[in-house]
Amino acid sequence: MYILLMGPPGAGKGTQAEKLVAQFQIPHISTGDMFRAAVKNGTELGKEAKKYMDAGGLVPDAVTIGIVRERLTQKDCAKGFILDGFPRTTEQAMALDGILKDLSINLTGVVNIGVPDTELVSRVTGRRICKACGATYHIAYNPSKVEGICDKCGGVLYQRDDDKEETVKKRLEAYHDQTAPLIGYYKKQGVFIDIEGMQNIDKVYTDLLAALKK
Ligand code: ADP
Ligand code: ADP
Ligand code: ZN
Repeated sequence: MYILLMGPPGAGKGTQAEKLVAQFQIPHISTGDMFRAAVKNGTELGKEAKKYMDAGGLVPDAVTIGIVRERLTQKDCAKGFILDGFPRTTEQAMALDGILKDLSINLTGVVNIGVPDTELVSRVTGRRICKACGATYHIAYNPSKVEGICDKCGGVLYQRDDDKEETVKKRLEAYHDQTAPLIGYYKKQGVFIDIEGMQNIDKVYTDLLAALKK
């Protein structure tokens, strides 16, 4: 199963990816996670990416495409993957077409999770992530059993630097300007799946699975 998960910041891509990983044992490739790991490790890539992430903008295409190409070429991606948060520009989508062609991979589905902007702001600002295992929670919609502690591993939960309200607004602008046009791009390729994101997490997942089986 080769899946792209698309949708605005806070739509639920990472949350649904966690469920797909648990069910299908395929790698979850999130460019956002890769950039955050690079920032944490203080690499050159991390230093470069941080400037754009803090400002709520997109990391330049050349850099982003390079890391995705390298990752998709690794062995564990041969039998399937969930690509989350990439592509985000037309340039990236065209580059991905080329990478997949080189690897003789056809996408199973391009899943777009739709959620209106007003809801996204509260989803993103209430998001908390486990420092140890990366699991995602929400202070109101999907709280951990003990406040600030991960249910799965006991790790400490934190808020991403870019999940503050001012930055979220900029990220939504970047989404509408640069990423939303990709919906048309994938509709033309005939692999596009629209999922209603304004439902609880389990219902979104049920719809997603049903659509992928078709
Ligand atoms: P994305 O990866 O698309 O940015 P996340 O999966 O991190 O989004 O979800 C953003 C926030 O919204 C998280 O705090 C998550 O717990 C919460 N969330 C995800 N899906 C839903 C949903 N269907 N209903 C309510 N809250 C959700
Ligand atoms: P969210 O799902 O909440 O939008 P991500 O974790 O996917 O957040 O991305 C966080 C940030 O990392 C983005 O705001 C952007 O700066 C950078 N980023 C992630 N993926 C890409 C991409 N494909 N192209 C450019 N920048 C990206
Ligand atoms: Zn954890």
